[in-house]
Amino acid sequence: METSRVTNQYLEDNLETEFKCLDHGFVRVVDYMGDESSIVQAARVSYGTGTKSVSEDKNLIRYLLRQGHSTPFEMVEIKFHMKLPIFVARQFIRHRMASVNEYSARYSILDKEFYIPKLQDIQPQSTDNKQGRSGELTEKQANEVKEILLENSNNAYWKYEVLLGEKKGDSKFSYHEDYNNTFYDEKFPGIAREMARMVLPVNYYTQWYWKVDGNNLLKMLKLRNDKHAQKEIRVYAEAMTEILSGWMPNVFDAWVDYMAESYTLSKQMIEALRKYMTVEDFEDELKSHKDISKREKEELINLLKGN
Ligand SMILES: Cc1cc2nc3c(=O)[nH]c(=O)nc-3n(C[C@H](O)[C@H](O)[C@H](O)COP(=O)(O)OP(=O)(O)OC[C@H]3O[C@@H](n4cnc5c(N)ncnc54)[C@H](O)[C@@H]3O)c2cc1C
Repeated sequence: METSRVTNQYLEDNLETEFKCLDHGFVRVVDYMGDESSIVQAARVSYGTGTKSVSEDKNLIRYLLRQGHSTPFEMVEIKFHMKLPIFVARQFIRHRMASVNEYSARYSILDKEFYIPKLQDIQPQSTDNKQGRSGELTEKQANEVKEILLENSNNAYWKYEVLLGEKKGDSKFSYHEDYNNTFYDEKFPGIAREMARMVLPVNYYTQWYWKVDGNNLLKMLKLRNDKHAQKEIRVYAEAMTEILSGWMPNVFDAWVDYMAESYTLSKQMIEALRKYMTVEDFEDELKSHKDISKREKEELINLLKGN
């Protein structure tokens, strides 16, 4: 069907592609609205029709992102289908500007699918970062941890099925002698799915549709690609970043330069720089940097001079 709407070849080619994450998860694009031409077009509504060429479009995108003109980036949207462990979903849900529809474990029975980390990802608690891991376990220790995770996850699903009343007649496991095996009694109807799920640990997989605009996607990707973010959510952020780079390559480049790999200096840090750097020497050094625009060089020099 012919359409005059903006279509993006990369996303059209990848609409069914599952970008694999962790052991059973994925990210897949379900739908989208616009691409970087939509951002440029929206910006021109504010700034007039001055720029037109491809390089001018690229520079406009860089300018917008650098100056924090975020609303043109809200003019594009993307909808992902994701399969992810519940503990990763809990971190994603903190990004409030996304719209979410999650698989209902009140309505349906969850599959027996849980995340077990690779041996090298099973690490001790970091001593200098309360929210992280670092160092190594011995192979034997890591294997034993993996066994505990596996046993816990399998046992939990077995209990889930018992509570759902799905294990009738199966008395080969005596859960607890005090219960007198009533769970295997034909009269036990099972409890509601919304309650039975309480026994499942947070490494079980859930699924959802997660829709976000470009501005909030870039913010989320900065936070969740960062080395301080948990490895497991970073895996999803990396897959989404790959999708971003195919969908909007100039936005991706600008995001790397002005968000992902940039850093905000405090007033005190700038004062320290001013004190210990000779602006004249720095000006000479800066001349050789062809990938810094004239305007950015001027801004940097003015910052150091205190202008
Ligand atoms: C490494 C890391 C560790 C974290 N650790 C913890 C933790 O230990 N505990 C914890 O609770 N959270 C934690 N978080 C979550 C964090 O505090 C933020 O909730 C999360 O990063 C979402 O950020 P956001 O508010 O910018 O995003 P969004 O919620 O997507 O919001 C995007 C933007 O919309 C605006 N906005 C959204 N909602 C409102 C609102 N109600 N009022 C005003 N403006 C709004 C804000 O300007 C915001 O920047 C952590 C996040 C990271 C990256």
